[in-house]
Amino acid sequence: MKVTRLPKDPGPAGWNAILPSRPPSPPLAGRQTADWLVIGAGFAGLSAARRLSQICPSDRIVVLDARQVAEGPAGRNSGFMIDLPHDLGSDNYSGALAADRATTTDNRHAIEFAADMATDYRMPDEAFTRSGKINAAATAKGHAHNLEFAKHLTAMGEPSTTLDAAQMHEMTGTDYYQSGLATPGTATIQPALYIRSVADGLVSNGVTLHENTPVTALDRQGDWVATTPTGHITAPKVILAVNGHLNSFGFLPGRLMHVFTYASMTRALAPAEVATLGGHPVWGVTPSDPMGTTVRRISGTGGDRIIVRNRFTFDPRMEVSDGRIASVARDHDRAFKARFPMLGHVDMAYRWGGRLCLSRNNVQVIGEVDQGLFAACCQNGLGTVRGTLAGMLAAEAATGTNSDALTRAQSAADPQKLPPAPIAGLGAALRLKWSEFKAGREL
Ligand SMILES: Cc1cc2nc3c(=O)[nH]c(=O)nc-3n(C[C@H](O)[C@H](O)[C@H](O)COP(=O)(O)OP(=O)(O)OC[C@H]3O[C@@H](n4cnc5c(N)ncnc54)[C@H](O)[C@@H]3O)c2cc1C
Repeated sequence: MKVTRLPKDPGPAGWNAILPSRPPSPPLAGRQTADWLVIGAGFAGLSAARRLSQICPSDRIVVLDARQVAEGPAGRNSGFMIDLPHDLGSDNYSGALAADRATTTDNRHAIEFAADMATDYRMPDEAFTRSGKINAAATAKGHAHNLEFAKHLTAMGEPSTTLDAAQMHEMTGTDYYQSGLATPGTATIQPALYIRSVADGLVSNGVTLHENTPVTALDRQGDWVATTPTGHITAPKVILAVNGHLNSFGFLPGRLMHVFTYASMTRALAPAEVATLGGHPVWGVTPSDPMGTTVRRISGTGGDRIIVRNRFTFDPRMEVSDGRIASVARDHDRAFKARFPMLGHVDMAYRWGGRLCLSRNNVQVIGEVDQGLFAACCQNGLGTVRGTLAGMLAAEAATGTNSDALTRAQSAADPQKLPPAPIAGLGAALRLKWSEFKAGREL
């Protein structure tokens, strides 16, 4: 099984770039064996390795990643580990109550698992914090979305608090937002710091990690043999935690959608700029319209900065050009200046894009895809939590460890077939454009 595509991550992972440099672990060399091979060191792969190390503490567990830890999507996201349902595929956040309760239970299970790692690996608050989440509304329509979402939360028995424009201003320093909906269960991470800390924590607890080690072929010769440019590794059981690159390993052709989303991070703000901005030193908001702009304000390692994320593009080839980053940059600058006119002169220091993998019916791929080969993929855009969950559950499936969450995952439908490529591409592109247009000032 030749791997048809290797990951390409456009632009620098800003969150990783602002941290002190970290020497990568060496690439795989020569012929090796392991009890467990995990391919991919993002949320899913590292969570799988952690769960395997809990279930089989004396086994040899090896993790490979094509890139350096935190350079891939795991180190380039907005860092919201959201407990509540948040369906990118739907026009609003409502859904069937029982399904939403089950999703919330599973998401919280994953957040607890992440919190345990944060404690065990002594992560600073900056890396993982139980912040709660605010859905910010910049328009009357966004406010109405929030009210509808709050109604649904009440039906689920979940608490939420509505913030008015003055409270939003007090937190953010900007008058842009009319209201916000606060919910307590989300954790926020500095994604690169979190993912580095997990990787380093696992290594210090006996897991072997090889970075800059792309798997170029994976074959079953009795056991599985993974080939890399500088070595081979043989293992009876393998967990594929490569998200959309599951297609590149030959699985689920025509069933996974490859989408990019994009972020820009400012240079460190000067003390006078911080004073002019006002507001709290650390906050983050998700948009009330799923197609809107996510904003985070950080202060800590790397200084005081603002990060904006918006736009989704459908890219079946799993690559985007530099030109795309430049065109999205205009949307980022517009969104930034509209929200922070007092910082209109502040430049972006880093701009990047990152891959998401979605299925048409919003399901994941968790479980055995070939004999002894397990997948923890297709996180539907919410991989900080769903990737963590997928990794935990793939490890449980592979070791025959039962859990309610695994039973739920195993009873989920398979990803639906996509329409033929040109139709799927055109349909998705038009739908994204239309949804972004409808998002108005939320974008
Ligand atoms: C700008 C942006 C903002 C986002 N914001 C959020 C957010 O706030 N909350 C949220 O939940 N999600 C967010 N996401 C999505 C989230 O980052 C992804 O869903 C998540 O990273 C998926 O986790 P994963 O472990 O499944 O896959 P990944 O993080 O993609 O990890 C897979 C790994 O597999 C490796 N790999 C692939 N092929 C090979 C190979 N052949 N050999 C070896 N290694 C290979 C890759 O290098 C990669 O490191 C965002 C994404 C972006 C880009």
